[in-house]
Amino acid sequence: MLRAAITRNITHFSRILVYRFSTAAIPAPNHQPDVNYNKIFINNEWHDAVTNKTFPTINPATGEVICHVAEGDKADVDKAVKAAKDAFRLGSPWRRMDASHRGMLLHRLADCIERDSAYLAELETLDNGKPYAVSYTVDLPMVVKVLRYYAGWADKWEGKTIPIDGDYFCYTRHEPIGVCGQIIPWNFPLLMQAWKLGPALATGNTVVMKVAEQTPLTALYVASLIKEVGFPPGVVNIIPGMGPSAGAAIASHMDVDKIAFTGSTEVGHLIQQASGGSNLKKVTLELGGKSPNIVLSDANMEQAVEQSHSAIFFNMGQCCCAGSRTYVQESIYDEFVERSVEKAKKRVVGDPFNLKTEHGPQVDNEQFQKILGYISSGKQEGAKLMCGGGVAADRGYFIQPTIFGDVQDGMKIAREEIFGPVMQIMKFKSMEEVIERANDTMYGLAAAVFTTDINKAQYVSNSLRAGTVWINCYNVFGVQAPFGGFKASGTGRELGQYGLENYTEVKTVMIKIPQKNS
Ligand code: ADP
Repeated sequence: MLRAAITRNITHFSRILVYRFSTAAIPAPNHQPDVNYNKIFINNEWHDAVTNKTFPTINPATGEVICHVAEGDKADVDKAVKAAKDAFRLGSPWRRMDASHRGMLLHRLADCIERDSAYLAELETLDNGKPYAVSYTVDLPMVVKVLRYYAGWADKWEGKTIPIDGDYFCYTRHEPIGVCGQIIPWNFPLLMQAWKLGPALATGNTVVMKVAEQTPLTALYVASLIKEVGFPPGVVNIIPGMGPSAGAAIASHMDVDKIAFTGSTEVGHLIQQASGGSNLKKVTLELGGKSPNIVLSDANMEQAVEQSHSAIFFNMGQCCCAGSRTYVQESIYDEFVERSVEKAKKRVVGDPFNLKTEHGPQVDNEQFQKILGYISSGKQEGAKLMCGGGVAADRGYFIQPTIFGDVQDGMKIAREEIFGPVMQIMKFKSMEEVIERANDTMYGLAAAVFTTDINKAQYVSNSLRAGTVWINCYNVFGVQAPFGGFKASGTGRELGQYGLENYTEVKTVMIKIPQKNS
């Protein structure tokens, strides 16, 4: 019975992320993995913060402190940027390294992460709260895949030769930008680290990364692997610390050449302003969303219910691309709501280390309180609470999978990003109407449409202003496929070949071709 449940979960999540998981059993997790690294990583060495400050990182399943971590600040950022700048100097081991060798180092890093994946999955679950079965079968394999994918690109990101007018030979080179600041969030700590490191290192940049204060532990362990596999000192520097201090110091630093940020739209504004107010560093942003998920009356009901459920509840709703506005055509609305409620009530909420668990705690008390606030606002504004709505355990930050029906577009829960397990279901009459309502948002990260009519599928997907549109599926990611936002959901793309463009400058070189008689 237990094995059957696990296999079902694996298949389900594997499908979500297009990852083929071997059917080998998941190793029994250690609920209290050792924490070996809790300091700042600069120049392949471990440092206390210049201020000697530390901050606690919390186990969200219990609310207890796991350990204290060095709290990097502006002075630590300065040290890290200097290390990254030195590592990028012309003639340095990193700049002289063959591109194929850079690829090999990334492959070795992937090998080490694969070797230690059970431990890393335990640590991720301890610090973030996501179910261990998901950490082990979804996050870790995807991390390895991303690093291997970009390892392969290291010696293949070619320029062009261009037939310009005149006696000139013209070609382009794709050169690294330089010191890249990278600020990552807490919802997929290891995965977001890999999304950022893979393209930056494949293309020969150096990195100063600030990890999220809620979940610093796995990124620091990966730092130890970066040293183990032989990246030269200063190529990757990792700073745990707070956003307004360490994060802001990276964003406004005059020697940081590019910044890549994943997080809230509010902070995205600050990052872009910091670039404008300092050295105009290049900015890529992957921000929030309020993604519409449209179910037409001819949809396969079972598929639509199942996928719409994982669209919002996967990772406890803590996904920037969560399908948080579910629009259902009126003729199937009642059946869809009934079946969605039935499914949400069966979702297994509990100890994230239990292999049966599908749904763990929210990441911290701040998010927990914020989500409960949105649930109260939904009730107050007259949405119909169909299930959940409350706290799911007497300790930790667990929230019941919650569904609101009869939601109106103007309600706060239909407009703002909740980042929690709260589904909003809205009714619509016609396709034209729902397209207009779906696009009526400042966001544009993702969208989905469920229908069995190919013409409608194409018409709706072409009409939606979003960086990714899923048709009859949701949360499908491929390392080869770009991901990013329209409108206030971001700038630039991550993953795939498009992801490389944000980490290279294009240099045009023109050579005078001597003529025979000149
Ligand atoms: P969330 O609300 O999901 O925590 P944030 O955008 O606040 O999202 O955080 C994402 C990342 O941005 C984290 O690493 C956080 O520390 C960092 N951050 C927060 N505020 C700032 C800021 N003012 N400048 C730079 N980084 C910041």
